[in-house]
Amino acid sequence: MIAVVGATLIDGTGHPPGEAATVIVDGDKVTSVGLARTTTVPPGATVIDARDKFLTPGLVDMHVHVHTPDKWHPELFLAAGVTTMLDLGGQLRDVAGYRAVVESGARPGPRILFTGPMLEESEMYPGFAGFCRRFDATRTEAEVDALADAGVDGIKLYVTVRPDTARRACTRAHERGLPVFMHQHATCGAEAALAGVDSVEHVNVFGQLAPEGFWLAEPAKLNPFEYGGWLWRWLGDLDPRSDPVRRLYDGLIAAGTALDPTLVLYAARPGAIGDDVGDTSMDDPERTRLLPLLPTPVAKELVTRWAERRGAALGASEPAKHRMRRAWDNILALVGGFQRAGGMVLAGTDCPNVAIVSGFSLLRELELLVRAGLSPMEAIVAATRRPAERLGKSDVFGTIAPGRAADLLLLAADPLADIRNIRRIERVIVGGIVYEPGKLLEGLRPG
Ligand SMILES: [Zn+2]
Repeated sequence: MIAVVGATLIDGTGHPPGEAATVIVDGDKVTSVGLARTTTVPPGATVIDARDKFLTPGLVDMHVHVHTPDKWHPELFLAAGVTTMLDLGGQLRDVAGYRAVVESGARPGPRILFTGPMLEESEMYPGFAGFCRRFDATRTEAEVDALADAGVDGIKLYVTVRPDTARRACTRAHERGLPVFMHQHATCGAEAALAGVDSVEHVNVFGQLAPEGFWLAEPAKLNPFEYGGWLWRWLGDLDPRSDPVRRLYDGLIAAGTALDPTLVLYAARPGAIGDDVGDTSMDDPERTRLLPLLPTPVAKELVTRWAERRGAALGASEPAKHRMRRAWDNILALVGGFQRAGGMVLAGTDCPNVAIVSGFSLLRELELLVRAGLSPMEAIVAATRRPAERLGKSDVFGTIAPGRAADLLLLAADPLADIRNIRRIERVIVGGIVYEPGKLLEGLRPG
């Protein structure tokens, strides 16, 4: 039994913290949450003195791919306070294998949820064939059933899925109690919401807002990188307060569709030309400090990717840089506007995509969500209660309450005063087991 005594409790619900609290953990669950001054610590419990410290639920990364084991280390997630991750695209045998490694206790790691492969109804982008699956759209329901029977936690629809197929997939997935996540091209903007999609990934949903002259006849013919490039070409010219933007928000909100913008993915561009994008800048001292602590292949990959990005950025003309900066400002404005309009924002990273580090990039994502206009509390909720709600697992994790998983972060400073304090993690508790971030990182170093 563990007693975390005297913490300021940021319990994930979004309620402001009250008086100092004591949280009791028995086995892998929280068993009681009460005022520190009235709660008796059970005899024999291991006491963690949390006076002047801050306790939050473990964080959730809603957009991960573990298909590249050399770039993915379960310990990195824990060291950054991520106690649950959702894999949004990987072959079932791979993701189930990774989960088994963590569940068996062979390696410390987060709770791993997964959707299995990204579903495509037309030709797949060959570079992603390793974690996609092309299916016969006339058998959409059978495809969803097979994944549901295999025990997935959701369904991931990918770029070539058209609106009618998406609707059929969503209907069957919901019958099976599964949420649907979509990376959109062929299903444009609010069409995903109408189809019943539960979360739209990245900022592709804003593709609907392309000005005349930029419209794509067949968006699904572009590969994912080309589509990203297309968005950057015109996003800077958008007015984020215009009526079409408002109507898109309304469509998503009316359908209850969440937005998981993965801002870290986009921040790499302004970062590469040396702009201040907060702690996401490529020159960020935090990241530089982190670099020597990372496993060698992860550190190498980061250095290589930064160099590539920088090289590409150096060649950009001044007008191109200007257009890119306006696009980045608008991406932030669109995400902030969606939250203010009453939309559900989720925190995800797409790690280990280009220069995105398992776990630590989620901390950057929270900083960027605050930059976009969310309050620090809203950003924390986007990585705690909201993901649990979206996954239908509110009774399992995401908040600190009796009966919930004992997944907790003990912070040395107040993340509500400054979201960057979310990095000041002293202890990570996952399933009732206590870890020190520094020791987890040490364990990953060779020799
Ligand atoms: Zn992804």
